[in-house]
Amino acid sequence: MSGPSPKTVLKLALPVPLPHLFDYLPPKTPAASESPVVPGVRAVVPFGRRKLVGVVVECGAPAAVDSKRLLRVSRILDDGVPVIDTSLLGLLRWCWQYYKHAPGEVLLAALPPALRKPDGLLPEPPLRFLITEAGREQLAGPPGRAPAQRAMLKALADGPLGEDELAATGSRWRAVLKRVSEQGWVESEPEPASTARPSGGHELTGEQASAVAAIREDLGQFRCHLLDGVTGSGKTEVYLKVLEQVLRDGGQGLVLVPEIGLTPQLLRRFRQRLGLEPAVLHSGLSAGERLAAWDAARTGRARLVIGTRSALFTPMPELGLIVLDEEHDTSFKQQDGFRYSARDVAVKRAADGELPVILGSATPSLESLNNAQSGRYRHHRLRHRANRAVLPAWRVLDMRQQANVQGLAAASVEAIEETLEQGGQAMVFLNRRGYAPVLMCQSCGWHSECARCDASLTWHRSTRQLCCHHCGSQRRAPELCPDCRADALFGLGEGTQQIEEALGRRFPGVPVLRFDRDSTARKGRFGEQVEKVMEGEPCILVGTQMLAKGHHFPGVTLVVVVNVDQALYSADFRALERLGQTLLQVAGRAGRMERPGTVMLQTFHPEHEALALLIGEGYEAYAGWLLEDRRAAGLPPCAFQALLRAEAHLKSDVETFLQAAAAVFPDGGCRVYGPLPALMERVGGRYRMYLMVQGPGRPELHRQLDAWLPLLRGLREGRRVRWAIDVDPQEV
Ligand code: ADP
Ligand code: ZN
Ligand code: ZN
Repeated sequence: MSGPSPKTVLKLALPVPLPHLFDYLPPKTPAASESPVVPGVRAVVPFGRRKLVGVVVECGAPAAVDSKRLLRVSRILDDGVPVIDTSLLGLLRWCWQYYKHAPGEVLLAALPPALRKPDGLLPEPPLRFLITEAGREQLAGPPGRAPAQRAMLKALADGPLGEDELAATGSRWRAVLKRVSEQGWVESEPEPASTARPSGGHELTGEQASAVAAIREDLGQFRCHLLDGVTGSGKTEVYLKVLEQVLRDGGQGLVLVPEIGLTPQLLRRFRQRLGLEPAVLHSGLSAGERLAAWDAARTGRARLVIGTRSALFTPMPELGLIVLDEEHDTSFKQQDGFRYSARDVAVKRAADGELPVILGSATPSLESLNNAQSGRYRHHRLRHRANRAVLPAWRVLDMRQQANVQGLAAASVEAIEETLEQGGQAMVFLNRRGYAPVLMCQSCGWHSECARCDASLTWHRSTRQLCCHHCGSQRRAPELCPDCRADALFGLGEGTQQIEEALGRRFPGVPVLRFDRDSTARKGRFGEQVEKVMEGEPCILVGTQMLAKGHHFPGVTLVVVVNVDQALYSADFRALERLGQTLLQVAGRAGRMERPGTVMLQTFHPEHEALALLIGEGYEAYAGWLLEDRRAAGLPPCAFQALLRAEAHLKSDVETFLQAAAAVFPDGGCRVYGPLPALMERVGGRYRMYLMVQGPGRPELHRQLDAWLPLLRGLREGRRVRWAIDVDPQEV
């Protein structure tokens, strides 16, 4: 078959922020041998004065405009092999329609960076090398004068090897390989798909066994399973057992974890239990590594992919199961550009592909709990820790009645001391890095503020800097008050560095390990510190969110939570949900083995009903209470929202645009509210505001948004601002 006839066009997605596909004429096909153009292949096209790499989305569509005015595709990059298969293309199309984002940006974001360039080609399939009969005879004969060749044959005599393994046999291995191949002693073949050899694993508890059985029953069909199990209840063991089955049946598995959850510990566990090298995908990889892992999944050589958010868009022809661990985690929502929820798109991908998806968490999101209550998701509860460890005991410390040294209550310090004496490890959690969140003058009240944001500058005492944690601006910390010249500056409040310093002074000789973005900036540092903790000697860990997630520190028996009061009175309607999740995740670090754990919670509001409920009755009751509240207030997940976000240097430009936008909002069941200021109104010198669209039903919301968008694009006021739609927003 030749290419489409001249009257038809190719529709391409191009990496530009425009809301439509672009029509091009097919390339001139000189040779009949050339494969027909199919959807999902990349193409290079002229665009203005530039050349762009785009993806063909449709072939053979009728030309909408006079075909004489259309440009021609310069070249097709992937000869008949789509880099994005039909089902993934369908998912991405759904994404750009649902999230109202430019198709080209959605599609190109799904490709590894190496393939977004015109010179980026699909990699050649990796080879492995085998010794031939002639090779074996040669090896059996007397040693000749080529010891390197002999060594290579010897290495291959035990079984086939890949290039990486051959490279370990000597620096001149390529030349040696060439020689022995020419002699007919070694031949090559494409690397076959990896096969799983599961081993180990625990005898499942009753709760685990019934979850595994129920999910296995659904293999081959779509269903969403919410695996709601306390920290340490063996959720990972459930994933592994179901994955074993999927791999045995010839399927591929996709496991998504939060940014911070992708630890060497986790990878080791999957590798050991499944006896299989997973393809790993995350943002820290080099372009080459990313391409190799992606291509192994696309071609089916990799049977298991483990990755963070964007790994969701990896082509996997035999996908049989998606697992999303810590499904409540906010890192699954992309907060800029193409703003999608990996959790929601994962459910859509599973529905399209007719496969089950497991959403796991000790603290499920209210969205997922709501779906479980309504019967859309199947709900599996694991209420007990799998290895018989007991859940930690809580102690609430009323800070109004505690002596307090640099943010630590006297009772907390005592508890740390006791823990260390008993040979245990203690963890102090607070969500503020730096030394102090504000530098202040005792004499005149001056305090450090960012000139470009509505935020104070954090004092980093060791580097003598004032840093904005929102826009990244930095300057030298003054010695004297910039206003009154008094020598009266002091840090107000505490950050991780100050707690580290205070603990170091109080417990000389005990290692204090700090985990935050500053202390672990150097590559490998995080892992080194984790190893140190794993050695099990008494020590103190101090850190932010980073400590709350995924880690299994068997020696930690005490957790001190320094300050959570802000969230109790926040204007964000999700603050209490997040607080409960964070507290339980942090608490979950304590006493995961034989020794029971204790969590000490420092607060000025011990009587707050949210804390009482969370600690007294647990997450299930707490989340149920929050959900009732959302229902009564008509808030998500009991209503549906989208934001029109806008920002500009001049506040009046933002307001004018949003007012004009509100004025053209189409009639229907959803209403528009605002303009309202973002929770932090000014960041990096730009004012940020939004309109909120809210209504009781998703189809209605989308119908109105789709009618609204062309009107928004036509607004003259829109030229002076940056604006974007955020569907199912997670923050304001
Ligand atoms: P989660 O993912 O829910 O935090 P894990 O799967 O990591 O829980 O399990 C917590 C600990 O309990 C791990 O050390 C794991 O090896 C162990 N474990 C899991 N399932 C069982 C079981 N059925 N019997 C004994 N120990 C188990
Ligand atoms: Zn002053
Ligand atoms: Zn700033």
